[in-house]
Amino acid sequence: MPRPILATIHTSALRHNLDVARRRAQGARVWAVVKANAYGHGIERVFDAFRAADGFALLDLAEAEQLRQLGWRGPILLLEGVFEPRDLEICSRLSLWHAVHTDAQIDWLSQHKTQVPHRVFLLMNSGMNRLGFTPARYRAAWARLNALPQVDDIALVTHFSDADGDRGIAHQIDVFEATTRDLPGERSVANSAALLRHADAARVRGDWVRPGIMLYGSSPDYPAHDATHWGLQPAMTLASRVIGVQHLEAGDTVGYGSTFTADGPMVVGTVACGYADGYPRHGGTGTPVLVNGVRTRTLGRVSMDMLAVDLTGLPQAGVGSEVTLWGRAGNGALLPVEEVATAAGTIGYEPLCALALRVPVRVET
Ligand SMILES: *Cc1c(COP(=O)(O)O)cnc(C)c1O
Repeated sequence: MPRPILATIHTSALRHNLDVARRRAQGARVWAVVKANAYGHGIERVFDAFRAADGFALLDLAEAEQLRQLGWRGPILLLEGVFEPRDLEICSRLSLWHAVHTDAQIDWLSQHKTQVPHRVFLLMNSGMNRLGFTPARYRAAWARLNALPQVDDIALVTHFSDADGDRGIAHQIDVFEATTRDLPGERSVANSAALLRHADAARVRGDWVRPGIMLYGSSPDYPAHDATHWGLQPAMTLASRVIGVQHLEAGDTVGYGSTFTADGPMVVGTVACGYADGYPRHGGTGTPVLVNGVRTRTLGRVSMDMLAVDLTGLPQAGVGSEVTLWGRAGNGALLPVEEVATAAGTIGYEPLCALALRVPVRVET
């Protein structure tokens, strides 16, 4: 028997979450963002559910190639654009749309020989200072692209730094609008947080929205709002089993570094899941976990292959008990990945993307 750890992908949840995004988008077209191997879920595993999207947005040419091999003939967008001139040949061959955010990428396009002109997404750095042309240089980049025979369509794009937080998006979208007011072309600005929190405004919906994390059922602005608040369903469950039980007395410690000390008699379950499975190591004692669908907590440090859970007061629990690290337990109880992540000092995106190759994955249709 293999180690009892298992990730389950809930196809019906993926479909449901895409519907939520589609309703919020109110007619804007929807890119299903599937970078990082569909946020750890596996492109080939989410493909069927996300066929109902208008396009797929990602970063790696290999992932684009994979989508074409799966039979997707619609739009595919490279969110970081190409990394070297040769990549443009693959864009032409696979008819990929690609972001443009540097002068070098425009130079490469101007040298590129292609039968079919490309659709490009011109990125503006409206304040996040990650990728894109500053507002002062944006229109010059647009004019350069517009003069190229290799380009037939230029969409106008920016990305928000604070769609999930108090600072919000107004300062960025005002700059974006002022700079692009009289330029033709489709607009795309909204990630999940903007789509959920700010998309009552048509200018935020634009022509294309770019939801990622919400499609996987995780709230982008937890703990302000949880997934249930947004009507999202978790698309991944990580589950394992208790493989050992220890009975502790006051003063006994648990795990590497002895960071947890019992203050009385306790029962500790050892679970076949560790950081080499993608479980976050930084939670320490107190990260929530479900045993037989009942909420309890982790104890001490997470090891490479195992972690400890508190079974004190759970008399039914023992070797073989079901442990839900995140997602949905057999009894229907839910443990949101963002809650686990928050206890470990990170965000829900990270443990999803970090799901390790060694974890077997089952797709529940
Ligand atoms: C990752 C990404 C998204 C999706 O972000 P979520 O927060 O997961 O919705 C959208 N746009 C761009 C440019 C991205 O890089």
